[in-house]
Formats: sequence, structure tokens, C-alpha cells
Amino acid sequence: MATSIAVGIDIGGTGIKASAVNLRTGRLTMARDRVATPEPATPEHVIESILGLLHDVVVPAANRRHIIGVGFPGAIKAGVVKTAAHLDPSWVGTDAAALLSSALGHPTHVLNDADAAGLAEVRLGAGAGSSGVVLMVTLGTGIGTGLFHNGVLVPNAQLGHLQIDGKEAEARAAASVRDAKGLSWKRWGRRVNTYLLELENLFWPELFVIGGGVSEHFDRFGGQLTCLAPVVPATLGNDAGIIGAALWSAEQARQPARRIATVATAVEPMARRARK
Ligand code: BGC
Repeated sequence: MATSIAVGIDIGGTGIKASAVNLRTGRLTMARDRVATPEPATPEHVIESILGLLHDVVVPAANRRHIIGVGFPGAIKAGVVKTAAHLDPSWVGTDAAALLSSALGHPTHVLNDADAAGLAEVRLGAGAGSSGVVLMVTLGTGIGTGLFHNGVLVPNAQLGHLQIDGKEAEARAAASVRDAKGLSWKRWGRRVNTYLLELENLFWPELFVIGGGVSEHFDRFGGQLTCLAPVVPATLGNDAGIIGAALWSAEQARQPARRIATVATAVEPMARRARK
């Protein structure tokens, strides 16, 4: 199978984006395409939207048997959806990797959307070359977080659901909250700061990378952030999720025996042994 191109898909609460990614350079080979997330965002409707998008994604003839990576806005374990806060709840329990592989006709690997964006930033963007703990925080419809240690993903850190003063962080500081409440960048930036300080107290990262569409406006709220660790905007912008999903699919395809090669899978058996 030719693996120089993979297709990356980023499913979000408001939009679904796709493009082809050159796996050697990590760059999109064409402008990304986007459709609004259907309502209700059931598996059937989302798949229909993806099929529509894929019509316009041009993959060179030599790569026709490509693989697909999908960033999904929920916790994903071995391709199975565990949570779907901003999509239809009927996703929960679905083997998204199997469903999408069969519907799209190409081997498809699925991971959390913030994990995907973080993977791209850690490999090729704002976090490239950083060691220690890097926390990717995507501010969009919800808040997604990707946790990395020395470049290795610890999957499904669902830290947007952290409770701060009795309320979920994403209900206070997601980008959608700024829009819904008409908050100024400064006021919203202070909310983001409260959240990042909480994360810093818990994880002591070397670096925070801020993703999502708002990363393009970082200069408008970055001045409110007072963490000890540097906080930088994502350099791959809104393409990070697509690129990371494509990179992930290629890595998973290369390592079928270690489908989720992460710290967590190494730690789990130890924890099981310890419980006995
Ligand atoms: C979901 C996360 C997701 C984030 C960003 C949250 O509501 O629970 O899994 O990464 O939104 O889409």
C-alpha cells in the first residue's frame, strides 16, 4: 500500500474538515474542505457528510488505496467511542474505526480530536523539539486537551471537563462561550487563564500549546495568561487536527500489533498486576 499520502478528517461540534496530507512533509496537499456538522449528528448523518467531503479530496492515483485518520470529539479506546459530548449520544459504544473503515472503503483509524491536533503540533508545530510534559489545549465548541510526555501521547485526557468552582471548564472558557456570551477577548482571556492555572497546578507542563480557531487571535487574549510555563499558539492552526489524524493513521497502520502505542497501555498491565 502506498503510504506517502493519507487523508485526515477532523470531526468537530460545529464543522467537519478534511484534506489529504503528505506524510513526509506533514503538509496538506490541497486546501482543506469543510461542511457544517449535521444535526442531529448521528453516525449515519456524520458518515454521509464525510462521504460528501471526500468527493472533493483529491488523492493522487498512486495513493488510491490510502488510509484515513479521523479526529473525533470524544474519548476513543481502540476505535470505540466512549463519550460524545457535542455529537449525538448514539455514537457512544460505536466502533467508529470499524464503522468508518467499512463506510469509507479505506482502513480508518480514529483518535480523540485534541490528541490529533496535539500530535501534529508536537511533531511538526509549536511543540516540536520540546521535552517533558506538553499540554495541547484546543478552544472551540468545547475544550479538548492532548497530553504528551517526551513526544509520547497519553490518550484521552478529557481535561475540558475539569470542574472549576462547580462548573465544567469548557462551559466557562470554550471559544463558543465567548461567542454565546459576547465576552470581550480580555474577559474571556481571564477565564482561559483561570483554567490554564488550574492545569498548571495539576500537571506542571513545560509548555502549553493553544489550538482551535482562536489560536489565530492569540495576540488578543495571550496578554491575560499568567502561567509559569510558556503558552504559545498552535502554528498549524486549524489544520492541526487533520494533519495529526493523518499522521496517526499512518503510525497505526505501520504498527498493527501495537495499535495504541502509548504510555497508558504500558502502565495498564502494571496497574493490573499491582491490584492482584
Ligand atoms: C470532548 C473532548 C473533545 C473536546 C473538543 C469535549 O467536550 O469531551 O473529547 O476533545 O470537546 O472537541
